[in-house]
Amino acid sequence: MEDVVKSLKTGNIPKRPVAITFDDGYADNYTAGFKALMNNNMKATFFIITDKTDVDSWYMNSTMLKEMLSKGMGIENHTSKHQELNKLSRDNESKYY
Ligand SMILES: [Zn+2]
Repeated sequence: MEDVVKSLKTGNIPKRPVAITFDDGYADNYTAGFKALMNNNMKATFFIITDKTDVDSWYMNSTMLKEMLSKGMGIENHTSKHQELNKLSRDNESKYY
């Protein structure tokens, strides 16, 4: 996504641009996605549920995220808790973030 923003700002847009993103930070983003990206010399941005990091093996841990960051991947915040927004009341809005 960083490259997308840079391209839009400079007007230097590749002929056939592709942006790859992953949501939620599941462990297979690392075991399958990241490995495939590295094997094909590609980058992507991973949007992470921050409260799920370092919790269990379903989600990536901080060691995985740091490795991906060091290899040029983008790591961004997707949400902290990933509540189903359509099921929340506006009355309690502030406690979900
Ligand atoms: Zn999501």
